[in-house]
Amino acid sequence: MNKTLMIEAPAKINLTLDVKGKRNDGYHELETVMHQIDLVDRIYIQPALNLSVKSNSPDIPDDSSNLAYQAARLILDNYGRGEGAAIFIEKNIPVGAGLAGGSTDAAAVLKGINILYEYDIPFESLANISAQIGSDVPFCLQGNPRIIVDETVEGNVLENDQNIKGSTCVARGRGELLTSLPARFLPWILIVKPDFQLSTAEVYGKFKIDQIHTSPDLHAFIKAWEIYDIIEISHFCENVLETISAVLCPEVMLIKKKMERLGAKKATMSGSGPAVFGVFDGPEDALMAYRVMKQSYIETYLVSSYGRGD
Ligand code: ATP
Repeated sequence: MNKTLMIEAPAKINLTLDVKGKRNDGYHELETVMHQIDLVDRIYIQPALNLSVKSNSPDIPDDSSNLAYQAARLILDNYGRGEGAAIFIEKNIPVGAGLAGGSTDAAAVLKGINILYEYDIPFESLANISAQIGSDVPFCLQGNPRIIVDETVEGNVLENDQNIKGSTCVARGRGELLTSLPARFLPWILIVKPDFQLSTAEVYGKFKIDQIHTSPDLHAFIKAWEIYDIIEISHFCENVLETISAVLCPEVMLIKKKMERLGAKKATMSGSGPAVFGVFDGPEDALMAYRVMKQSYIETYLVSSYGRGD
């Protein structure tokens, strides 16, 4: 039998990101709203004797430093009976962008192997494993991604095309303490990543809390989110890491300004950057901005929220 499982791994954007302080364990205390978007890696997993990870991208490792490999190792070691897995990552999410590309691959591998080998691991246990891999992985485990299981010999193709859901959460702590927000669909999100990768560790390393000028107003953001006012939602997007990342990658500020000139109500950096997103309230401005930005930046994407979510 030649069984293959395909699972989508959606990227996230940080609609708000605030740093509340430094913890004793060296991590920062975060308060951030994360939202899954329809920019996805596709992870293909087949049963195998050994564990291997390959991809179509020269930008990510194919050894044990790949987060997908680490996720697979943890789940196979804890729940397997000596089996491995052959994993292929179709990389579409820009690497080192602040879009959680590695974390979402890891979360998808945890879910995918659990289904492929029918381990029946409860969600809580998967969540515990996910927190060992990285701060963004517990959020990436939320939602209900598209999964296709193809059993070639039997000719069965099972697709969970129903009920595909993205997630939006307030994340606190290192990012692992999650509170879900109601599903809201943002139809026009423009993402632009300059040709530069930022290290999350380097950005947080340079962050100084007393240099924050403006912090996100989480209360106002959540109110706008609940009443589903896209202009207000966009207005309250804010990221305190922007000024640090912009020193390392000045194009962040240029992209923000350009996107706002092109009609984004507000353009904000995601995570530790350097990807910048703008939320638009209609197709005309969004499509025009996409065309203009794409001329200067190859990694420009016009996407929406992941899944309808309603
Ligand atoms: P975050 O938003 O969670 O901080 P990021 O989007 O800034 O993440 P990633 O794309 O996850 O950054 O990549 C960060 C580093 O992780 C890169 O140096 C990359 O080589 C490494 N990495 C390991 N595994 C993966 C993977 N499966 N996909 C992408 N990057 C990976």
